[in-house]
Amino acid sequence: MTELENNRKTAPVVGRFAPTPSGRLHLGNLMCAMLSWLSARAQGGKVLLRIEDLDAARCPFMGENTKYLLDDLAWMGLDFDGEVLWQSKRSEIYDTYCEKLNEKGLLYPCYCSRAELHAASAPHRSDGVPKYDRKCWYRLQAGDPPPAGRKPALRVRVPDAVIGFQDGLQGYYSENLAEDCSDFVVRRSDGVYAYQLAVVVDDGLSGVTEIVRGNDLLDSTPRQMFLQEIFGFSHPVYRHIPLLTDAAGRRLSKRDGDGCMENVRARYTDARPVIGALAAALGLIPTPESISLRELIPLFDWEKLPRDAVLLPEGF
Ligand code: GLU
Repeated sequence: MTELENNRKTAPVVGRFAPTPSGRLHLGNLMCAMLSWLSARAQGGKVLLRIEDLDAARCPFMGENTKYLLDDLAWMGLDFDGEVLWQSKRSEIYDTYCEKLNEKGLLYPCYCSRAELHAASAPHRSDGVPKYDRKCWYRLQAGDPPPAGRKPALRVRVPDAVIGFQDGLQGYYSENLAEDCSDFVVRRSDGVYAYQLAVVVDDGLSGVTEIVRGNDLLDSTPRQMFLQEIFGFSHPVYRHIPLLTDAAGRRLSKRDGDGCMENVRARYTDARPVIGALAAALGLIPTPESISLRELIPLFDWEKLPRDAVLLPEGF
């Protein structure tokens, strides 16, 4: 066992749930919150809550969404340790870390518009962002002036190196950042920090040791591990959970009514049958029954969980 693994075994577990309040939560989000919470609690650890409200300007209903979000989490019986962290209040902290990238010569301004980026023929990644052709990096090296009248985004230069990790659910995953991803944005042209930077800074400074989140974020992890190394944060344990889908295999979305907490709360005054239905869908209990999160702690075991999709329980 390496020293790092040894430390991990003895260090207290710190989990977290980090929702973006872009709409009312659905059961898929609650399932993620529930698994982060159960995993940390089953190991006697702490769980933190962080509201990822960086893009408040673009999401006018964030305040209202957050109110519902906090209420839905409390209704499920999810309690969190310490103060809630609000990303919208932390841009000065992100400035400091962005400057660290700059000091290491890894940051450069990118003036490419969204249309230019999408017009480039480079393959698109699963998050819909095209792989960057490094046009602005080459422009900078050539000493050519930037286009006039545009505010730049900031990109980080990634190495031609493989970054891999053993995911607790999905197995080994790796990427060569230069080949598979290319230089990515850490601060947008409107000055808003990108998720990739904020998440690493916040998890690192909060001492998070275990990250449980949807497997749609699996391919963000090598980028985040690269930033963790630059900033001197240790790598947390990752568990990317399967997404909750409807019977047709479609992923639930905040826009659809299926599994939306507004409908769930209209039908159920008590959260226990809802928790039981999710727990059965996850294989934690054999059949749906009314149960509280606390009662689920001793029954919790990552080995029981399905690796691919989790089906939305019937009637939701
Ligand atoms: N804020 C992201 C979301 O709501 C999750 C980020 C994370 O867990 O790293 O999808």
